[in-house]
Amino acid sequence: MPKKLSFIVVLLFLLSLSFFSVSFADCLPIQKAVSSSVENGNSDLIPYKAIDKDPYSRWSSNRNDDQWIYFDLGEAKDFDVVIILWETAYAGVYEIDVSDDAKNWKTVFEENNGNGGEDLIRLDGQKARYIRMRGLKRKTEWGYSIYDFKVYAKDSVAPESPSDVSALSGDNSIVLFWEDNKENDLYYYDVYRSFKDEEEFIKINVAPLKSAGFIDKSVANEEEYYYYVVATDYLGNASIPSEQVYSIPAAIPRIGTYLDASLPLEERVNDLLGRMTLREKVEQLAGMVNFDDMTSHGNSRLHIPPLRCADGPHGVRWGEGSTAFPVPLAIAASWNPSLMYDMGVYMARELKGHGRDVSLGPCLNICRDPRAGRSYEGYGEDPYLVGKMATAAVKGLQSEKVISTPKHYACNNIEIGRGGGPVVIDDWSLREIYLPAFKECVQEGKAWGVMGAYNKVNGEYSCENKVLLRDILKDEWGFKGFVISDWHATHSTVRAINAGLDLEMPRANYYGRALYKAAKSGMVDEAIIDDAVKRILRPKFWSGLFDEERVENHKFVGRKEHDEFCLEAAREAIVLLKNNKKILPINKNKITSIAVLGPLADKHTCGVDLGSSQIYPARFDTPLSAIQDKIKSKKIKIVDDPKKADLVLVFVGFSADVAGRLEGEAIDRENLRLPENQEALIDYAFSANKKTVVVLLGGSAIATDSWGKKVPAIINAWYCGQRGGEAIADVLFGDYNPAGRLPITFPVNAQQIPHIGWNYNGEYKTGVGYQYFETKSINPLYCFGYGLSYTKFKYSNLKISYGDGWIGISVNVKNAGSREGDEVVQLYLEDLKRSMPGPKKELKGFKRIHLKPNETQQVAFKITPDELALYNKYKKWVVEPGAFRAMVGSSSKGIRLSGIFKVVEGMGIVEYEGGF
Ligand code: BGC
Repeated sequence: MPKKLSFIVVLLFLLSLSFFSVSFADCLPIQKAVSSSVENGNSDLIPYKAIDKDPYSRWSSNRNDDQWIYFDLGEAKDFDVVIILWETAYAGVYEIDVSDDAKNWKTVFEENNGNGGEDLIRLDGQKARYIRMRGLKRKTEWGYSIYDFKVYAKDSVAPESPSDVSALSGDNSIVLFWEDNKENDLYYYDVYRSFKDEEEFIKINVAPLKSAGFIDKSVANEEEYYYYVVATDYLGNASIPSEQVYSIPAAIPRIGTYLDASLPLEERVNDLLGRMTLREKVEQLAGMVNFDDMTSHGNSRLHIPPLRCADGPHGVRWGEGSTAFPVPLAIAASWNPSLMYDMGVYMARELKGHGRDVSLGPCLNICRDPRAGRSYEGYGEDPYLVGKMATAAVKGLQSEKVISTPKHYACNNIEIGRGGGPVVIDDWSLREIYLPAFKECVQEGKAWGVMGAYNKVNGEYSCENKVLLRDILKDEWGFKGFVISDWHATHSTVRAINAGLDLEMPRANYYGRALYKAAKSGMVDEAIIDDAVKRILRPKFWSGLFDEERVENHKFVGRKEHDEFCLEAAREAIVLLKNNKKILPINKNKITSIAVLGPLADKHTCGVDLGSSQIYPARFDTPLSAIQDKIKSKKIKIVDDPKKADLVLVFVGFSADVAGRLEGEAIDRENLRLPENQEALIDYAFSANKKTVVVLLGGSAIATDSWGKKVPAIINAWYCGQRGGEAIADVLFGDYNPAGRLPITFPVNAQQIPHIGWNYNGEYKTGVGYQYFETKSINPLYCFGYGLSYTKFKYSNLKISYGDGWIGISVNVKNAGSREGDEVVQLYLEDLKRSMPGPKKELKGFKRIHLKPNETQQVAFKITPDELALYNKYKKWVVEPGAFRAMVGSSSKGIRLSGIFKVVEGMGIVEYEGGF
């Protein structure tokens, strides 16, 4: 094994040791924790969580300064040391105060540049009843968040000495590890070494060690050394030295045939599994404690790599410089799955460049309600479109051997109460609306992972939902990869593993030691553990992680071709919503001045910077800079006063720094309208100049009812990535003919959409989005599939043909205008004779084509049983004989041609199984 790799493997092993060795030292009993500030309504983050002796549960404050938490020791007590174990949201500036009455506080310690992690604060003798952490400045956008707050007095008992010390030799190094003797220990360790023949031991670590392991690199290979380890607590009390051990020169990991890359995958998996102890197996099933919150366990003895994950619906959320692509909803608006495939390829290369192996995505949340804060992370409201786009993403990512984990399985469609929203759903709505895209990602896309959601489904948390995980995903769909929990979405040990949750992230709260004990005591069958481990090992082998070293290489991040792709993708995504009197495209020869207004005119168009969507791109443009570039060769002036301009452009929408955080992870929008001041700006611009064009930038539908009727043109540009400015300018000036189509319905206003709660029962009957609007005969403002062009297309000659097991539908589409451009040809089906109630119209095919003026193209769709099947009352997918209406058009309401075809038994595609 190359040296570097062996070092990494050993290091990972050491890190992985912490898994079995986290524990508490003795600390003073704190009677009561009181805080002025708890994250609103979140009962998981209460003050008690900071003193509950569970290093994984936490207190968390509101997201502003200053915030505090204080503790009551019951009576005035002497203490000397405070330890704060911060969560990732930590304080930059804070103080420790003491008080006898919880009113008058004295500051005894001040930190001006906190680094998070574990802070050990020596106070050297204090006596007080109350003690408080007062946070004055946060280091992150989140609140203050503390896993553990501990207070120590000088009379603490000396720690026990470390046991089970062992020493294995590697390449010119010796790896030492030992067991902690106390549950939840927070000691430091020092390692002492002596040559065989020397009497004297010397301390060989420079800084005190926190984990129960150390690599001694200052040794000669094959020599024998003696070691012992001493544990020291935070007050300086040292244990007696551990037993002496000597290094074992021949202790080579049990390398087996599984390391042979030429063997079949399953053979390698089985060979490796046969060499693993129960502890090692269990260890594979959780994230690493106190690491980066994104990495699962490796194992150095057996050379098992960890899984290093990263988020990023529209670019890799890791480090700096990742490309900010248009958001998935924008890509969905292109109706071009091959764009999503390419974006998957580029994101995978950037993920690998950042040294990551797993993409936590794509996000398949169906947009049930356009106010849902994460709408932009998914692909819209229609199960068919979502399925095609998400599957393309999976294929793109995995073509580069990056593991994809479609999420959030299942029915995760709104942010309110996101910790465990109790979704209630009937089989039909589940099967027809919320599961198909997952099935396609798994069966057609061959995704190696699936991420379980936070919410419950029919009474069970998604991550311990046997029906969803074991019965449907694994048994029925034949999924051979792993189910990964959403972050902190695991709620049990035995229940979760038996239900089919394979990997608990970000760390072992319920798995780890608890799962090991459960397996030892027979509460969990080892065969279940074996199955889960195999599911994790398979993609580790498949992705080549056993066979090659994947090192960070930033030359793959933020590349030029990714930036160029952003421009292409943004152009394809932009939707022209309104264009009265052909005010657009702007004719540069006919104007001399232009007013560019709005809070988003000179901002990047990458969108929200919240949660898993945070990206810090190395470069981006803005609409204003792109417009300036467009007009620089002409004598067109940019003016401030709309009255003095030939045309006004107003850029409005959502972005953290102009409108506050109004949508995003954990935040649903309150309504569909723009912020009041932006609507007022549009009114002002229009009253000054009738030639006002509004450009919307947002992550979902925006209601335009208060101003939309009067302005002559509206463009919806979504969050269209780091080259969005130029793409918008291209559309405005006609250098690109827009052809984006809405992947979600734009209602007139929020009153048109139903009250969305956790009850999904019956949605199958009405459908969501356009299906709901059509079932209820409500006219939205802009329907699903809608978008204008600068040219026009004529449809003719609908033909229906029958093949062996399929039905062909074709139409001719002609560009009848004078500009070249794209058309998105959409096929909807209506099942005219069905045993079950269902939506009137379902998208079952689409194609984006490019036509020159006067050019005609035949567009053909192949309908197979998959597109015709329904989930019947016997809980079976069947194609029922009977008539279907095929409707082809340019949007869900813009049907241009339709025809009827019949499915009869014996035609080859009928699988009818039961009476109706
Ligand atoms: C989000 C996931 C994300 C995970 C890791 C969770 O809060 O819901 O979508 O992948 O965090 O960042």
